[in-house]
Amino acid sequence: MKGAYWGIDLGGTKIEGVILDETARPLLRHRIATGQEHGYEHVLMQITGLVETMAGKSGLDRPRTIGIGTPGRADGRDGVVSNSNTLCLNGMPLKRDLQESLRMEVLIENDANCFVLAESMLGAGRDEMAMAGRTAFGIIMGTGVGGGIVCDGRLHGGAHGIAGEWGHNPLPGESSACYCGRRGCAETVISGPALESYYAALSGRRASLQEITALSGTDASARKTIDRLVLNFGVALGAVINILDPDLVIIGGGLGNIRHLYTPEARQAVASNVFNHSFNIPLLPPLLGDSAGVFGAALLAGPPLQER
Ligand SMILES: [Zn+2]
Repeated sequence: MKGAYWGIDLGGTKIEGVILDETARPLLRHRIATGQEHGYEHVLMQITGLVETMAGKSGLDRPRTIGIGTPGRADGRDGVVSNSNTLCLNGMPLKRDLQESLRMEVLIENDANCFVLAESMLGAGRDEMAMAGRTAFGIIMGTGVGGGIVCDGRLHGGAHGIAGEWGHNPLPGESSACYCGRRGCAETVISGPALESYYAALSGRRASLQEITALSGTDASARKTIDRLVLNFGVALGAVINILDPDLVIIGGGLGNIRHLYTPEARQAVASNVFNHSFNIPLLPPLLGDSAGVFGAALLAGPPLQER
């Protein structure tokens, strides 16, 4: 075998590992409990044990590099974790400790970037991204609004690691406080909780975004909420497209399956904010489901996808 690419999706309740062959087909998947209630050392041992199990079950040599996707950030040379929902990881040098215990290079990225990498190269964007030099913008819209950028098969993290964080660009005329400390961020308008609050204020009753979407044909407040989403989605995404000019956009997260984001009206909302006479790129729903995180982690170790 030319090469195999190992990835781990480190979540709050489960840790999943995958080995992809050089054409990015999964050879093995294995899942264990995180057990974060037993503390940081336990989570390290779980990961080390998972890698041993994957080596034993596959009969393959241990890789020189492994990719790990996890919520939150892992900063600096030691990969010190912050904003993780696996609370015992926060403040700990996860990258350094795993490199010591696994005796291999460890690449850590947040779960949103892993989603974008997997969906752009193996999922929704697979055909579009097969040509060299292509760029994908991947969106996560749900509880929060985030995103990531893949250029030519590789993540573009940026100088501060914030490339693609469009959810904290300000929307004109908006001033609601955001958890990040600023006001009027896109996330305060087009995230799921923001839209649910808007609907509650209009209608006097609470409903999930899914219910609001279903009601939008008959209920005026629901219609207004969806119109607000589509209009501001267009403003926020148009600003990204004017800077990045991607070849495709993939819309993931809880809002990725809202059909109103794929209508001619939504395209027009984006197009009217784009500095060009035409707007031709595809806006795509994701295809890989729960697998995107772990596949993206494996792609961090970098199969030569242009050779597929
Ligand atoms: Zn913000």
